[in-house]
Amino acid sequence: MGIAENITQIKKEIGSDVTLVAVSKYSSDRAVHEAYDAGHRHFGENKARDLKDRAAAMPDDIKWHFIGHLQRNKVKYIAPAVHCIHGVDSLRLLEEIEKRAGKVPRTVKCLLQLHIAEEETKFGLSEEEAEEILRSDEMAEFSHVRIIGLMGMATNTDDEEQIRREFKRLKTFFDKIQALTVTAEVPDDDDRAPSFPPNVEMRVLSMGMSADYKVAIEEGSNMVRIGSAVFKED
Ligand SMILES: *Cc1c(COP(=O)(O)O)cnc(C)c1O
Repeated sequence: MGIAENITQIKKEIGSDVTLVAVSKYSSDRAVHEAYDAGHRHFGENKARDLKDRAAAMPDDIKWHFIGHLQRNKVKYIAPAVHCIHGVDSLRLLEEIEKRAGKVPRTVKCLLQLHIAEEETKFGLSEEEAEEILRSDEMAEFSHVRIIGLMGMATNTDDEEQIRREFKRLKTFFDKIQALTVTAEVPDDDDRAPSFPPNVEMRVLSMGMSADYKVAIEEGSNMVRIGSAVFKED
């Protein structure tokens, strides 16, 4: 199977309600072009320079996702071209994104990364820290940053029950935050004020990679970041 077949197969499997981000970080320009020619438009990179260079070299209608750990001094490279930043894990990083996006000027979509893995090594915010950012005075002032959802990575393990538990926990938190946003569907007689400013939306839940995307979707993911299963060729 080639790249085009992989994409067709995965899209059939995940259904039309789930967005596939093809993670091209280990793939050649030729491979990305092949996916593009097959009609794919969402691609993910995890290095700021790679995203910048690829965005310059590839067609303009590609939506570039930054999926790695983003250092503040690298935000300037991706601000002009990035569609969505998945790994936001501090208010200071958001402040830098606001500043650099404002200089372009444009609005950059962001996902807060939650630490869901029971193992110690992964990046991300606790639920308390995420809520603190969303409720902060700074958040309400941002005009070039839009939070559109959450992202999380499960533990790298064969224990499917553990992976499921970790995804389930993130979905529960996502639902809780979504119910408190301006765009949540509240009954007419519910006059509680939303708890977050209008630039906080909860519509994207980015969880699932090649090894665990099926479990992630069963647990409520609507965006999967898939590298090896898309770009493998044999
Ligand atoms: C590399 C990477 C992926 C894709 O990994 P595969 O196992 O190749 O599907 C997804 N998300 C993040 C954050 C990554 O760094």
